[in-house]
Amino acid sequence: MVILYLEYLKSFIAKMQHAQVQHGETTAPFRPETPMAKTLMDIGTRRIFSEEHDLFRQNVRRFFQEEVVPHHQVFWLCLCCRMYCNCSGPGFSLHSEVVMPYISHYGSKAQIEHYIPQMTAGKCIGAIAMTEPGAGSDLQGVKTFAKKYGTDWIINGSKVFISNGWMSDMVIVVAVTNREAKTAAHGISLFLVDSGTKGFQKGRKLEKLGLKAQDTAELFFEDVRLPAEALLGQVNKGFYYMMNELPQERLYVGVMALASSEFMFEETRNFVMQRKAFGRTIADLQVVQHKLAELKTDICVGRAFIDSCLQLHSEKNLDSGTASMAKYCYRSWCERGLKLKKITAFRQQATLVQTANRGKIGENVM
Ligand SMILES: Cc1cc2nc3c(=O)[nH]c(=O)nc-3n(C[C@H](O)[C@H](O)[C@H](O)COP(=O)(O)OP(=O)(O)OC[C@H]3O[C@@H](n4cnc5c(N)ncnc54)[C@H](O)[C@@H]3O)c2cc1C
Repeated sequence: MVILYLEYLKSFIAKMQHAQVQHGETTAPFRPETPMAKTLMDIGTRRIFSEEHDLFRQNVRRFFQEEVVPHHQVFWLCLCCRMYCNCSGPGFSLHSEVVMPYISHYGSKAQIEHYIPQMTAGKCIGAIAMTEPGAGSDLQGVKTFAKKYGTDWIINGSKVFISNGWMSDMVIVVAVTNREAKTAAHGISLFLVDSGTKGFQKGRKLEKLGLKAQDTAELFFEDVRLPAEALLGQVNKGFYYMMNELPQERLYVGVMALASSEFMFEETRNFVMQRKAFGRTIADLQVVQHKLAELKTDICVGRAFIDSCLQLHSEKNLDSGTASMAKYCYRSWCERGLKLKKITAFRQQATLVQTANRGKIGENVM
């Protein structure tokens, strides 16, 4: 499937190059903002995009519709389009928006040359293992330990709730490397552990309420011996690397959450326009119109904020606090949207609790 996705990307790039030749230096036409568009998911809107982005978005959307949606029950490039197709998986975004940046930002030349081409081609699926049975929100509590043995490292410990863990070919493992450091954060390092390394075992695929198209697994490390080259970046700097990567990770959650809210709004609008009660559609009821207007206003205000975060991020100016706001702010809007749609439909795919637990309330709420 990743190969097909890459084919779409290639065709996008070809079209983009063609479009650049055709358009020359002409001034960009007016692009309506989200609230002005017919639907919140329209292509051709939003000032942060150009016609080239439109082509790209069309291709990504078509890819998800044709190649992912039909198989969705079984199994950064344009997160919005994925959510507009109501896809919670596969775990592309974790692979490309979370795992790959660690390697491209902190990897050695050899690590980059080894992993990035394979990961780009979808031949090596990445995961990142921070959480442990006894350490979740408080990442400084990790116990997995990597002991130096000559130039090698020997890792012992276990991880839990690891997205892509079961199908991963390579996992970035967070481990303590200095138990005597002045704080735990000063004694944590990252290691690249390939599937099949002796002593590395994948455990159960965990049962989840939602996000069924991507696995979440337990991982076990028993005397896993790694060469010095498996260390990612510098020793004892792992915690800083994780903090550096957080703004992008938070932003991607915010982007998906808002796109889900937009999708959900359109679903809700269609529903209330069709559903009849007391001899007319429920969209004719003024109280429903008020609710929809309120919801749309909130979503469109959010869209302006998220687009400004995307612009800041593309200029490398997005700070941690602003990114946290992007991740945080959609919960109440999605919850309100849910109330307008048939509650039974949501029960069937009750992802709400699980997404709330991750602070990802907008993810796959429909
Ligand atoms: C579907 C899914 C996929 C995941 N994928 C990954 C992955 O790929 N890699 C990975 O490393 N981890 C992953 N996780 C784990 C996730 O990062 C942790 O679940 C998260 O960090 C919370 O940790 P915890 O579950 O141990 O809860 P805890 O940290 O034990 O928290 C329990 C409760 O206490 C609350 N709490 C914690 N600290 C505070 C505080 N200071 N003040 C007030 N309340 C607090 C929390 O909000 C929560 O309600 C995934 C989890 C899920 C559900």
